Amino acid sequence: MTKIAIIGSGYVGTTTAAVFASKGHSVICIDRDKPKVDAINNGECTIFEPGLKELISSSVSKGSLRASLNIAEAKDSEVFLICVGTPMKADGSADLDYIEGAAKDIGSALKDRSKYFVVATRSTVPPGTARNIVLPAVEKASGKKAGQDFGVCMVPEFLREGHAVQDFTNADRVVIGELDSKSGDMLNEVYSCIKGPKLRCGLPEAEMIKYMANSYLAKDISFANEMANLCKSEGIDYWTVKKGAQLDSRISPRSFLVAGLGFGGSCFPKDVRAIRALAKKNNLNTFVLDATLKADAEQPLKLIEQVAKDFELKNKKIGVLGLAFNPDTDDIRESKSLILIEELIKRKAKVLAYDPKAIENFRKESNLNAELASSGQELIDKSDIILIATAWKEFKDLSYKDKPVYEGRKLFDSANPPKNYKGGICW
Ligand code: NAD
Repeated sequence: MTKIAIIGSGYVGTTTAAVFASKGHSVICIDRDKPKVDAINNGECTIFEPGLKELISSSVSKGSLRASLNIAEAKDSEVFLICVGTPMKADGSADLDYIEGAAKDIGSALKDRSKYFVVATRSTVPPGTARNIVLPAVEKASGKKAGQDFGVCMVPEFLREGHAVQDFTNADRVVIGELDSKSGDMLNEVYSCIKGPKLRCGLPEAEMIKYMANSYLAKDISFANEMANLCKSEGIDYWTVKKGAQLDSRISPRSFLVAGLGFGGSCFPKDVRAIRALAKKNNLNTFVLDATLKADAEQPLKLIEQVAKDFELKNKKIGVLGLAFNPDTDDIRESKSLILIEELIKRKAKVLAYDPKAIENFRKESNLNAELASSGQELIDKSDIILIATAWKEFKDLSYKDKPVYEGRKLFDSANPPKNYKGGICW
């Protein structure tokens, strides 16, 4: 059992905390946001992730998980995991202010400590961040020496929102970037409860692995859309083509060739831009990354064009089913639904939207002028045309009657579409 402090209680921090606490570690969550801290201490959670609330509730009852606004309460911890946000700056690069702030907070809280501890970054950060930002910030604020009084690691997170608990518990891999083997041994011990192969490496390699993985997956989506757009134009079924291509032993059947509205979410768009900004700083071309982003920006508008070919959009009531960027999450950051709604409003359509979990976040975070329905069925009943923007499974069971239905995400089996199915964005 290790005493762990987790700085930042968002999607990554809360999942990490809840799983480690359920595996027998003693965990304290530190966040600056009081509602998040209060929710955890009440055995609840301010975000939606399948299975997360249950894990938090049981760990808080057992006494293995608690939260605080005050990092001084974490000063006995042996391992500090930084899980704060790394948003995008105007030039596309990663904003590391929260990372530096968290590292300073940790250092200040540990000034009087004599026992060795490790500070590990779990947020997605450009290569060099652990060594050049986290390490000096902790040294300066604590007066201690890295490699002697404390260790430094970079352990990137690869979870998918909507599958966070499952992905964290049964990881495809755990990457432990380490300043030295003493730092890495401590993280290796903490992660011994997590299934999945472990790769130990240097700090910048661990930082770069996360960017390469996300850029690769984003590129796969833009590539899939390019192929699928062509298939649709030629009257070819993309999903059969995908299946056949994936029978090639060099193309994994698990590869991410999912066609649709494109990628969204809090990670792919900002991570591709951040690594592209780093390449530009190195005077390197980024042909693949540039094309990935350009294709992704154009893709959702294809769905609107498809509807506009069949109907005059002005004054039509368009029902947008789904606001979250993926099913099984309440996160609307960079969701393609927002692009659809914005474009529909521009074209003078009236928008009615619904999501099973993301309505509150839409109300808080978006200023788009869309009416909100209280159920998927109400949305269908009140709309002239339906767009599927998020593939929530429950949308399959709604009664679409004879309303025209367009898919931006693959939801229906081709054998069993709604009565007035108008097709998918690229199938
Ligand atoms: P988030 O925005 O949901 O949460 C970040 C939290 O950090 C917030 O609650 C904020 O209040 C808190 N915070 C900021 N500074 C703090 C400080 N000094 N002390 C205490 N709390 C502080 O972020 P997220 O989605 O969990 O992502 C966190 C990082 O993990 C990002 O770098 C992201 O790119 C990466 N990541 C995210 C995912 C994902 O699916 N969300 C997956 C893998 C990696």
